[in-house]
Amino acid sequence: MTSNTRYKSRALRSEDGREEKEYVGFATLPNQVHRKSVKKGFDFTLMVAGESGLGKSTLVNSLFLTDLHKDRKLLNAEERISQTVEITKHTVDIEEKGVKLKLTIVDTPGFGDAVNNTECWRPITDYVDQQFEQYFRDESGLNRKNIQDNRVHCCLYFIPPFGHGLRPVDIEFMKALQDKVNVVPLISKSDCLTPNEIRKLKDRVREEIDTFGIKVYQFPDCDSDEDEEAKQKDRELKESTPFAVIGSNMVVETRGQKVRGRLYPWGIVEVENQSHCDFVKLRTMLVRTHMHDLKDITCDCHYENYRAHCIHTMTRRMQEMLQKMQQQMQHEQDL
Ligand code: GDP
Repeated sequence: MTSNTRYKSRALRSEDGREEKEYVGFATLPNQVHRKSVKKGFDFTLMVAGESGLGKSTLVNSLFLTDLHKDRKLLNAEERISQTVEITKHTVDIEEKGVKLKLTIVDTPGFGDAVNNTECWRPITDYVDQQFEQYFRDESGLNRKNIQDNRVHCCLYFIPPFGHGLRPVDIEFMKALQDKVNVVPLISKSDCLTPNEIRKLKDRVREEIDTFGIKVYQFPDCDSDEDEEAKQKDRELKESTPFAVIGSNMVVETRGQKVRGRLYPWGIVEVENQSHCDFVKLRTMLVRTHMHDLKDITCDCHYENYRAHCIHTMTRRMQEMLQKMQQQMQHEQDL
């Protein structure tokens, strides 16, 4: 029998009659967890998808201030006709104020570039499944302590700014991935559009996401005890989706300051200026506020679904095998 007594720090009376609290010390638990996770470091896997030239590499470089694709070989149109979707992985170790982050970027060159794009999302869904499968194997194996987690925690999907909403390939892609990974749609190269055009395109994309029943990553609701400012930020974040982003590998000078931006004959577009685009919102969401939630949803929802499906299939196969064996034995007895 187990007893579960609620335990509170006792209040003792000191000699002068003052109340003194005796502490067991578990209030330091958050610090212990914090120290341990900082020591271990964090990992995060981000996938980028969308057709070639939409600014994926530039945006990733702008987000993490790295040059992840310096030795990338760009294919010409002829080479791209026969190219199939490839999956490439780059890992960088980033350290900030003693906190280490192992960031893996999974790129999908070739997606949507062919003349016939039927099922061009297949290599991408296969890749996501392979990572789940590997994790499932490792988790069921003997050495569960040092599992390398390569599951994809988030997929930034780049929608071109030039159309009138989602294209069939965008719908197909997001629908194929929606139950496997957190999909965050982005309107790429948004400096090509006026604020009014951005608003219209965002409305259209949101409408189509609803109409076609596409499940994109849903930001969790703010806790009810949060202050009004946090609630307002949360509302703004949700209203800004799909984020309209701009990327740049260049630093330009404006108002006496050096900023990441794009220099045009008519002016400068600043990547981190919130009145120019939603880059800061995306970065804040990805890195500062929702990285953990993206990992939790990957683990508790997408991976759990995969795991449940695997176990269900394995059980069904075992039952079928047992049934066959029983039938075989019955058949032999009857003879
Ligand atoms: P990727 O093939 O999707 O990785 O695209 P890249 O990042 O290589 O960018 C393709 C081209 O678009 C390059 O010339 C970039 O300088 C340019 N580019 C990247 N981001 C932006 C953007 O936000 N706005 C505009 N106008 N051009 C961009």
